[in-house]
Amino acid sequence: MGTYSYWLAGLGLFFVILERLWPRLPTQPLLRAGWLADLFFIVFNSRFASLLIGYVTVYWIADLDAVFARGWAAPWPAPSQFAVLLLTADFVKWCVHNLMHRVGFLWRFHRLHHGIEEMDLLGDWRFHPAEVIFYSAALYLPSALLGVSGHTALAVGVFDTLIGHFAHANLRWRIGWLKYVINSPEMHLWHHNHPDCGPVNRNLALTLSIWDWLFGTAHVPPQHPARLGVATTDGR
Ligand SMILES: [Zn+2]
Ligand SMILES: [Zn+2]
Repeated sequence: MGTYSYWLAGLGLFFVILERLWPRLPTQPLLRAGWLADLFFIVFNSRFASLLIGYVTVYWIADLDAVFARGWAAPWPAPSQFAVLLLTADFVKWCVHNLMHRVGFLWRFHRLHHGIEEMDLLGDWRFHPAEVIFYSAALYLPSALLGVSGHTALAVGVFDTLIGHFAHANLRWRIGWLKYVINSPEMHLWHHNHPDCGPVNRNLALTLSIWDWLFGTAHVPPQHPARLGVATTDGR
């Protein structure tokens, strides 16, 4: 966890610099409305929420591991472990994200993330801590069956953070054909558009965008949405 925190701080600084150099909205200030609350979410969601879940579930996990832990991928070389964990975990997370948009009970938690009206990398961490529980629960079984090394799990976590920060960053970059593979600002802005200016429940990608292209939920017009955010008390 300590190592991940260094990566988190480094990637945050990296994207703050990129946002200053190539901003999509040059007038959006670094300390825009709600930045302090989002900083709290970074610290709480990245450290305490997952640690808390770890402490609460540690005994159950030991029992579950006795039944489910297989370690199928454990003997594989690191690049193969990385690829299979990235693909498997990302698809599971895409399914969970999809459910959070379509099931009223889950949307009540997820709509906090969609209250974002000024997009930047801090927004990547504005989500309800309950989302950590939903994602962790869904990821338990594939993780137990695969059993990749801690180094590989860290590498996938850092890659997910890199793409998550990139997709939320106030950056004007477009990435050409790579948009068919990874998430990006041009794609993720249309996940956060206000319902008045375009379709909703599109671009559900977290790290890999391939699921949206495969399952017909991709929506990437040439222009950016005119308005972001939904009222945090709205249904969707
Ligand atoms: Zn969403
Ligand atoms: Zn987002």
